[in-house]
Amino acid sequence: MAKSKYEYVKKFERNDSLLPNTWLVIRVDGRGFHKFSDKHGFVKPNDQKALELMNKCAENVMNDFRDIVLAYGQSDEYSFVLKKECSLYDRRETKIVSTIVSLFTSNYVFNWNKYFPDKELLYPPSFDGRVVQYPDDNNLRDYLSWRQTDCHINNLYNTCFWALVHSGKTETEAENVLRGTVSSEKNELLYSQFNINYNKLPEMYRKGSVIIRQEVSNLKYHLYVISLGTLYTAHSRKD
Ligand code: ATP
Ligand code: ATP
Ligand code: MG
Ligand code: MG
Repeated sequence: MAKSKYEYVKKFERNDSLLPNTWLVIRVDGRGFHKFSDKHGFVKPNDQKALELMNKCAENVMNDFRDIVLAYGQSDEYSFVLKKECSLYDRRETKIVSTIVSLFTSNYVFNWNKYFPDKELLYPPSFDGRVVQYPDDNNLRDYLSWRQTDCHINNLYNTCFWALVHSGKTETEAENVLRGTVSSEKNELLYSQFNINYNKLPEMYRKGSVIIRQEVSNLKYHLYVISLGTLYTAHSRKD
């Protein structure tokens, strides 16, 4: 077929191929979820159902994109690790990131009612996405450790913050109490003032969730959603 005179416009497209032979990590993060969680009355600091909904979205993304070997989620974010030899969309960055983000987002809306049957979705949520390339396995492990440390730091702070607020302090007062405190002081505050043993709180809140794929054969695999080594839901599928 003859090319149209307009074809030349394609030359303006950037080549955005990702490096070969590197781990690809795609992280999606809820846009403005501080407000979203507030408007939708999420239980603070951890809404169990909201976390389960995030896990379900990630599980469905993994079911669709077989190159994802592992996913890690906490709060309003999920990281997807694609294997080094992934050739999805010829490794074009915008194609990969945009399809994963949109599939995750549509799943969030599609499954909302199953997790919140009594709560109307008040407006359409959105997620941003980025990709990071890691040539080295240690870098990948450090990336995951970094996200999990972020989960721990935020969760310890938020657990203290909301315990103080639920006990009658204003948000500003709670912030003032916590300003400059280190981890051990936060643990102590929870124990002495609220009788909360931080280490006994659910693993999913303190450490996040991991989903791994275990290939059983070429045609079959299992997905496991794990919270610190304990399987709390398992999903298998045959193509
Ligand atoms: P941005 O658009 O820059 O990501 P954001 O408001 O989404 O802004 P984040 O740093 O991503 O900010 O933080 C997400 C916020 O969403 C948390 O601070 C928390 O308030 C809320 N949130 C997310 N998941 C839950 C949950 N399961 N339970 C309660 N609150 C949650
Ligand atoms: P890719 O994932 O590569 O984009 P695709 O199947 O989406 O693959 P496109 O080139 O985007 O391929 O073409 C979209 C196809 O969707 C059309 O060829 C047509 O078959 C179908 N389609 C889209 N919109 C309509 C519509 N309004 N009515 C009927 N068919 C439609
Ligand atoms: Mg966010
Ligand atoms: Mg976030």
